Amino acid sequence: MKTFIRSALALLIAAGVATGVAVGTGRAADDDGKGKPAQGLDAAGALKRLTDGNARYVSHKEKHPHLDEHRLKEVAKGQHPYATILTCADSRVSPELMFDEGLGDLFVIRVAGNVVDDVVLGSIEYGAAHLHTPVIMVLGHERCGAVGAAVKNVVEPGHISSLVTRILPAVRAAKKQEGDLVENSVRANVELVVGQIKAAEPVIAELVLAGKCKVVGARYDLDDGSVTIDPFDE
Ligand SMILES: [Zn+2]
Repeated sequence: MKTFIRSALALLIAAGVATGVAVGTGRAADDDGKGKPAQGLDAAGALKRLTDGNARYVSHKEKHPHLDEHRLKEVAKGQHPYATILTCADSRVSPELMFDEGLGDLFVIRVAGNVVDDVVLGSIEYGAAHLHTPVIMVLGHERCGAVGAAVKNVVEPGHISSLVTRILPAVRAAKKQEGDLVENSVRANVELVVGQIKAAEPVIAELVLAGKCKVVGARYDLDDGSVTIDPFDE
């Protein structure tokens, strides 16, 4: 009997490790349970740090922080990223590079067209609710191929069509605007996804309502490397 209990416990612990959930606490393994904003930053502080890092990147004066052996060993014990970032899988759009950050600073989810489904929302919730990032950023980018495919409404074999389908409502909204349709669709898609994340019940919607987490949109400029945060409220 004791052997069975020990085996069952080992299985539970193994399951906890595999899913990142600390057995018995209901918290993520990286969650200190204190609910404090990661790295001591509130939303304004996190956005300033992102903006400052991007300014260094644009002016080619990067510090390349948090990449040494000390940091490697430090974050091996636990992670405390200060921003959750959903962006595109595009190889030119790398948050750690464009914000001049290092190991353990950003909780990044990348998927073509920076769209959300339940799986992506689950990752975003992990960043916001368990790692306590005070900011969730949806980062679209100039000349996004996934958005371009949705604008052309190309029918692709396989699974690309499921990305296109999710971006189509943004394209429809953008068609009512003057100007470049792909560019306007990129912006509309970010705005759409920001709304979907803010409305994600019950976890993120409650964090936003309680003022514990701010969801912002942003656009990355492929030509000069600059990030414009929340250009959608203008
Ligand atoms: Zn893209």
